[in-house]
Amino acid sequence: MEMIKLIKGDITKLEVDAIVNAANSSLMGGGGVDGAIHRAAGPSLHEECKEIIKKIGKLPTGEAVITGAGNLKCRYVIHTVGPIWQGGNFDEEKLLRNAYVNSLKIAKEKGIRSIAFPNISTGVYGFPKDLASDIAISAVREFLEKNPEIQQVIFVCFDEENYEIYKKKLHPNE
Ligand code: ADP
Repeated sequence: MEMIKLIKGDITKLEVDAIVNAANSSLMGGGGVDGAIHRAAGPSLHEECKEIIKKIGKLPTGEAVITGAGNLKCRYVIHTVGPIWQGGNFDEEKLLRNAYVNSLKIAKEKGIRSIAFPNISTGVYGFPKDLASDIAISAVREFLEKNPEIQQVIFVCFDEENYEIYKKKLHPNE
């Protein structure tokens, strides 16, 4: 079975063990994929996020936490904070990589076998899409090589530009 899958569409519709949310440090929801996930999950997600923030203050960039999934079809939501692109000299690449790797680490700890990622940081946070996809793909491939417990990782591209970028890299012969 192909361990890395690419789909174009809305991450809130997926029936996987976990979907990843490109959240912000407050975990209070927002626009983009974060807003879509909170709307589709319903108020329990916000409540769980509030409890986490009570304990930890805020979620640092590159870190990840896990909650239930409310009304979503998946079992868990893993919330991670990607970096805001500030030109490339502020550790953005490392922090984006951390966001993917720390999400995968939590998934592994929870016994999650299938996990779907949105294109973290490539919306409002302005990370260049081509560079972001290189980081995402290499972080996931490297993790999967060492951690076969995770059986499937799905890259979910919402916008056409990201989808074309990932398609070229994941399925170069099509
Ligand atoms: P960030 O603040 O991390 O940039 P955004 O939500 O603005 O987060 O954008 C991240 C990516 O999520 C973008 O590539 C955007 O096209 C995508 N996106 C927006 N809505 C959805 C959705 N419902 N499912 C999957 N991806 C989405």
